[in-house]
Amino acid sequence: MKLPSSPKGWAIHLSKLVKLFHEAHGLDRFPIKVAPLAMEYSRQVFPDASITLVEGIALSSQFDGMLMPSPRGEGEWGIVYNNAIQSPGRINFTLAHELGHYLLHRHVSPAGIQCSNRAMLDWRSELGAIEAEANTFASFLLMPLDDLRSQIQGEDISMDLMRHLSDRYEVSITAAILKWLGITDRRAMLVIGKNGFIDWARSSDALMKSGVFYRARQKITPLPELSLAGGKGLAIGTYAETKHSRGVWPGDEDVHEMTIFSPANEMTITLLLYPNDGPDNRWGVDFDEPREWDTYDQFEAGNQGTSR
Ligand SMILES: [Zn+2]
Repeated sequence: MKLPSSPKGWAIHLSKLVKLFHEAHGLDRFPIKVAPLAMEYSRQVFPDASITLVEGIALSSQFDGMLMPSPRGEGEWGIVYNNAIQSPGRINFTLAHELGHYLLHRHVSPAGIQCSNRAMLDWRSELGAIEAEANTFASFLLMPLDDLRSQIQGEDISMDLMRHLSDRYEVSITAAILKWLGITDRRAMLVIGKNGFIDWARSSDALMKSGVFYRARQKITPLPELSLAGGKGLAIGTYAETKHSRGVWPGDEDVHEMTIFSPANEMTITLLLYPNDGPDNRWGVDFDEPREWDTYDQFEAGNQGTSR
């Protein structure tokens, strides 16, 4: 049989195998268990290059995971995550990302690949194509579109729904929202804040088309003062939402803000919902090839140690 060559192709291929297996055994296929899948599949299909190690090991804090050839030089491979990571969702996504590197890139990177925290969030090829490819693979493997659509169908878009997706697929809330942003026709934005500043942000295609997005910038931008995310005094680990009048967030429109104050690193995760019938690029902004928030520069400028 001809094997896939694209990230999506690989994800769909493996996803089908997982589905068949689980249906045959009457098991629920979610969340996808990457470790046994990686070892079993590679053993059967690539016996000369099988994955024989899947585990958490001590890595430098800037790295989330790694694809590594066996030091014994016997053709075996390992996929590992940083054992400092506590979140099961991040561990699962990291392993799927490394499996993506194994399937797609091991021939071009025989010495292995180390993946930064930031690489896990690069879904649009900012750090180099291979990181975005590994993330595309991981997102389609863990959150297959058929199931994702059935989970969303008829539901109101809410942080509860994103939490449900995060639980079902064992991915972080951020990964669940990014995935949803990639398929929705709603006008929406994800904003990740850290220490009161915008770390990075992503608009859905529909919102981007109406010219509402954060551009890459060279200086640090605070979260809007009147927003929940930028507000003071809300406890870490809590959730809040509100409907803002125009002028708080970008775009001259009312915005529904939903913000989680993550326990990790003072991070805020904000989902913004804009009205469906938005203005059609009312500012006349040229949004050919809009760049997202330049997280890496922000990151460097912000002199922050990790990017959880
Ligand atoms: Zn990577």
